[in-house]
Amino acid sequence: MCGVFGVFNNTSASHMTFLGLHALQHRGQESAGIAVSDGYDINLKLGEGLVTKVFKEKDLNELKGDIAIGHVRYSTAGGSDPKNIQPLFAHFYGGSFAIAHNGNLTNATEIREQLEKEGAIFRSTADTEVFIHLIAKEKEPPPSHIMLHKNDRDFLPLIFGAMKKVRGAYSLVILREKQLIAIRDPFGFRPLVLGKNRSGSFFIASETCALDIVDAEYLRDIKPGEVLVIDDAGLRSYFPLSYPEEPKKCIFEFVYFARPDSLIFQDWVYEIRKEMGRTLAREYKVDADCVVPVLDSGLLAAKGYSEESGIPLEIGLIRNHYVGRSFIQPKQEIRDLSVRLKLNPVRQVVEGKRIVVIDDSLVRGTTSKKIVNMLRKAGAKEIHFLLSSPPVISPCYYGIDTPTKEELIAANKTIEEIREYIGADSLYYLSLEGMIEAANKHRQKGFCTACFTGDYPVL
Ligand code: AMP
Repeated sequence: MCGVFGVFNNTSASHMTFLGLHALQHRGQESAGIAVSDGYDINLKLGEGLVTKVFKEKDLNELKGDIAIGHVRYSTAGGSDPKNIQPLFAHFYGGSFAIAHNGNLTNATEIREQLEKEGAIFRSTADTEVFIHLIAKEKEPPPSHIMLHKNDRDFLPLIFGAMKKVRGAYSLVILREKQLIAIRDPFGFRPLVLGKNRSGSFFIASETCALDIVDAEYLRDIKPGEVLVIDDAGLRSYFPLSYPEEPKKCIFEFVYFARPDSLIFQDWVYEIRKEMGRTLAREYKVDADCVVPVLDSGLLAAKGYSEESGIPLEIGLIRNHYVGRSFIQPKQEIRDLSVRLKLNPVRQVVEGKRIVVIDDSLVRGTTSKKIVNMLRKAGAKEIHFLLSSPPVISPCYYGIDTPTKEELIAANKTIEEIREYIGADSLYYLSLEGMIEAANKHRQKGFCTACFTGDYPVL
């Protein structure tokens, strides 16, 4: 999972990108990078850690230019190697470009092996690098049905060719000396939006919360299969591939990943997340004294559950915001430690009470087991653990960092065994139909639910 951002026609392009990445920080905390073009040269600054750690005022001032892209990384394909920090930069016979990618390619290993056999040298282990090689090697003419603008005749056919070869999830921003390009894969797995501010700068972002921070207005989503070019001649859209009738938008973005103040896939995350909680309340009624959210991820589902059931919402667990997300640390021992650092029960709220604890998802079961244990120690009388999504049974190959099947508790244990493992009095997961219905309430259709069903749209 990652976040991408792009800006065109802004004298403070690097500062804008810094702000955009800051708003997208929840999408990845391992590393950050910005690439800027002054119209002739592309310069980059990359680093490990949070956006505010990587970039100081001096760095941003040195990154001069009106066009920029940026990336926050949360390692999936390629692991947490510093060589994989994006944007990736390349120079080839057609000029220079930088690329930042959210999503995962499913055939990157195959393509890479083939390219390596042909003599290609890779500098990272990121799947994104195959794009660079495919672009540089592409020889096929563009599809005959596409009329290219004169500014697009050299580079765009290379992108179209690369898109034909890769499979999987990609929401991309590409920076050229004088162009910003945004691309979304034909299934539209990951979100990507276009915005504009009052001074005529254009922005591309994974989520609209990154448009808000730069005071830009949301114009529209980049459509599945679209290649959008922005340069001095204006905005141009191309659809080089035939794409499926129905997109396969990642439903987990609504369940967990996207920020609740974002509009993604043309809908508000806040409302859908709350609707998931309401649906949960209709599906599973509990006689309880209060509803306690696992902050922050379970907050809106708990609010929806509380409104629908009439059981009061209480903040029975306090979150310490000075530690990163537990899951996000790739190593198990660090993850174990940070669960304890993150949440603490409020004894006055939970002591002697029958409580409904709500989180958005249960993956390995580590977090929930610890939460139940802490709440018991704090005196809770009954603990009903509810999830606003179905059991996660299959890894994601499209960019969400889910562990292997062996580590997914629901892939290996029955619901009753999981209940016993986490130590709750009862355990209930939102049904698949309930989750999809909640997301569809706002005219949403065409979701990828592979992590809950094992039904992969493309491999
Ligand atoms: P676990 O302890 O593995 O069951 O983790 C469950 C917790 O991780 C829940 O609080 C979720 O909100 C959160 N979570 C679920 N999926 C992810 C993910 N891909 N990255 C980070 N956190 C996640």
